[in-house]
Amino acid sequence: MNEAKKSEKPLYVTTTLPYVNADPHIGFAYEVLVADVLARSARASGREVFFNTGTDEHGQKIARKADEKGEDRQAYVDHYANEFKKLREGLGLSFDNFIRTTDATHKLAAQTIWRRCLEAGDIYKKSYTGLYCVGCEAFKKESDLVDGKCPDHNVAPEEITEENYFFKLSNYQTFLEEYLGREGVIEPEWRRQEALNFVRQGLEDFSISREESRLDWGIPVPEDATQVMYVWFDALTNYISTLGWPEEEGNFRKFWQEGEVIQLAGKDQVRFQSIMWQAMLKSAGIKNTEKIVYHGFINSGGQKMSKSLGNVISPYELITRYGTEATRYLLLRHVHPFDDADVTREKLDEWYTANLVNGLGNLVARVMKMAETHLKEPVTVNSEAIEEGFVDKIKNHHLNEAFDLIFEHIGKGDAYIQDTQPFKLLKSEDEKVQVEGREIVAKLVGHLYRISEHLEVLMPETAKVIKEAIKTNKKPENLFGRID
Ligand SMILES: [Zn+2]
Repeated sequence: MNEAKKSEKPLYVTTTLPYVNADPHIGFAYEVLVADVLARSARASGREVFFNTGTDEHGQKIARKADEKGEDRQAYVDHYANEFKKLREGLGLSFDNFIRTTDATHKLAAQTIWRRCLEAGDIYKKSYTGLYCVGCEAFKKESDLVDGKCPDHNVAPEEITEENYFFKLSNYQTFLEEYLGREGVIEPEWRRQEALNFVRQGLEDFSISREESRLDWGIPVPEDATQVMYVWFDALTNYISTLGWPEEEGNFRKFWQEGEVIQLAGKDQVRFQSIMWQAMLKSAGIKNTEKIVYHGFINSGGQKMSKSLGNVISPYELITRYGTEATRYLLLRHVHPFDDADVTREKLDEWYTANLVNGLGNLVARVMKMAETHLKEPVTVNSEAIEEGFVDKIKNHHLNEAFDLIFEHIGKGDAYIQDTQPFKLLKSEDEKVQVEGREIVAKLVGHLYRISEHLEVLMPETAKVIKEAIKTNKKPENLFGRID
């Protein structure tokens, strides 16, 4: 570890918490994979890392589903939380904590941040009448509706009147304009402009609680048993409850106060993550998030994935068909970091075969077969620094382009074999020509080693297999099997 690396701040990276009313979605699989690569890359450069993910488990939508099925609510969320936790193995994730919003420590944190915002004068109670979409767990404006229905749920919202607590977002108009005015607090840049424009139009206070009679599956409002916290106010707190907050020392100090904080989220999350959450932090006297990176949606065949269209591709389907490492490859290389992406089963098969079976897998097999047959000893390889361009691609969240760099090297390896034809030289009667052939193979093994070093943060198990093959001078078992 050199001095420059040592001086880099600890990294805190977190995904959003998926809502546990359905099995894991491919969009979340992408998000958590990006977080995993950022975490692995930072650890590899000697930084301390805290990688957070987990599940959002409160709200009336979940309570209703559990009740309909006649299941105990906690047992119901336990089941789904487990489906998400299993992604650790399925996707090869390296997260440090899996926070659940039903954890006792999280509930304490949510109530503490509430009290802090209350003490700051940012929480007040008022009567409110509005159109409420149960699917969204949110009040809707007329302008949000299409033909009188919530466009996300295709259901007409119910008009309800109740007394709720409100958060004075309007107090943070100036602050948020200043915060969002800082370059780099949102990636991509055009989305920061979008958020800034939204704030400049004027902010309205938002409701942060429901009457207990309407919402009884959530965290009670401190000192008012008739009200339960709005699920977003509760869930957003996970980003610090996972670090042990309200305990100010330990992980919270190291990773939030003194570290670099990066949050990942989908493009529909800007108002929650970059506006509401940032105002809550400011109100509670806590440092704001350094950077929030928003990714697009993954569609299939030009349409949003939905059960009714039958075009839902689940992460577990990919893991079963292609395996963990190939699933990492398929999502990280073929989903754009910021724009919407389109995947279909046909395209996935095509990418898998062309790039993993015939590309990477084939190069490793050819080179290591020649090495195993013609080299008496394993090739001595040395670790070298990872290419700067590659590290930059990861730091700037262009993981697809980081993969492109690796595939350029795979292409160069193939071209070198094509040009030098080592398999012919190795069969020569002339000892000098054979030596030349062996030298080419040794160079190719060195080249594979460089490729494996770059693959480490993206496809860690594949990198390990390649390194082991080089160390033992043996062609590995089929890295990527053919699919039917
Ligand atoms: Zn809705």
